[in-house]
Amino acid sequence: AREGERLDARTQRSRETYARASAHLAGGVASSYQLRDPWPIYLEGGQGPRVRDVDGNEYWDFHNGFGSMVQGHAHPAIGEAVAGRYPLGTHFAAPTEDAIVVGDELARRFGLPKWRYTNSGSESTMDAIRIARAYTGRDTVMKIFGSYHGHHDTVMVSIGVEYDKIGDPDNLASLPYGAGIPQAVVDMTVAVPFNDAGAMERRMQRLEQEGRLPACVIMEAAMMNLGVVLPEPGYLEAVREITSRYGVVLIFDEVKTGLCIAPGGATEKFGVTPDMVTLAKALGGGLPAGAIGGSAEVMAVVEDGSVYQVGTYNGNPLTMAAARASLLDVLTPEAYAHLDRLNDRIVSGCQDIVDRYGLPGYAVGIGSKGCVTFSPQKVVDYESFKANQDADLSELAWLFNMNRGIFMTPGREEEWTLSVTHTDEAIDAYLACFEELARDLTA
Ligand code: PLP
Repeated sequence: AREGERLDARTQRSRETYARASAHLAGGVASSYQLRDPWPIYLEGGQGPRVRDVDGNEYWDFHNGFGSMVQGHAHPAIGEAVAGRYPLGTHFAAPTEDAIVVGDELARRFGLPKWRYTNSGSESTMDAIRIARAYTGRDTVMKIFGSYHGHHDTVMVSIGVEYDKIGDPDNLASLPYGAGIPQAVVDMTVAVPFNDAGAMERRMQRLEQEGRLPACVIMEAAMMNLGVVLPEPGYLEAVREITSRYGVVLIFDEVKTGLCIAPGGATEKFGVTPDMVTLAKALGGGLPAGAIGGSAEVMAVVEDGSVYQVGTYNGNPLTMAAARASLLDVLTPEAYAHLDRLNDRIVSGCQDIVDRYGLPGYAVGIGSKGCVTFSPQKVVDYESFKANQDADLSELAWLFNMNRGIFMTPGREEEWTLSVTHTDEAIDAYLACFEELARDLTA
């Protein structure tokens, strides 16, 4: 309560802004993920690793736009690319040179030859699923229980529900995430637990007997919405083997992992090549770019015109200029080495604090991403997260950070993302704040 009151007192202008915003923005925000009780924190600007709210509070940004800003805010190279493009015209709905260069670079990074663009992660996963359905001639979609893949109906299923209400791991019920999702669509999506290749195999067998093998398995190779949950050794290889054997398209949703944990994302990091990859977030360096990559065989259904992979703004010249600068000028091998070094520091620093103060939890990270998971047991999937993770402690840690100038993703399910502009000073600030929390909790 004390930390909550303190944040309220520091954000009175946000409170006033909320009252004004609520007149014509539903809930005072632009997206339901921006909602917060008692009011959202409205931001004014950001440069490099720092952001500023409308009350003038300054923060080190560890939220980074849900991981979209791994380049840091207002990066000059991206600014120049966008400013240079603007006078040449910003939209033609015709392909431009930058779209070709970005496609070449993505093919090199992810080892998949054929690419198309979208404007968001949701569009990327929606189109990838349609391509997989067209390629296989099947309707069912298999996803990982608890995973978020965007806001279209097919994937707004089996997330954010009370696990104990929905059945055993081999027979997880499909439940809609919020209202307005047709039951017929929900029924076409089946979910299996993460890190459990046996459950996936058994579900495939059952679906085969029922005559409804899935078109695809869509998954994050490392889950990024339960904090960070890494794949257990051998799991991704087993998933690759199972999906190949059943003729199921394997889609790695790399909207979060993509350009943030390695140049070629989880695909490169874990050395397992899916049939398709979906990207968005960090691709555009703060502009709304998304992409889908696939094998020549799967993407043939796009090339032969049987699937309409379309969108007025796909490959928009401004977003492509930003993506080109991001990929070629900002997210260089040196930038990834910098992110790895800083992330090693913050993860091992947090773990050291957890150990010294005997906190119930552990630190985990990969590439630019990580978190402290407040759970005495290791989280390996949604069930173990729901059963063990301490939501109150997560909320307290968030308030504590915000009151000490550390801007973090709200809620218990998100992780930090570092940017290439973060420095040791930012890591020191984070660790000092976490140590103060640990001291307070154990005093
Ligand atoms: N896929 C994953 C793994 C995501 O984390 C998200 C967003 O958080 C999406 C897809 C949807 O992306 P967008 O919000 O750009 O539609």
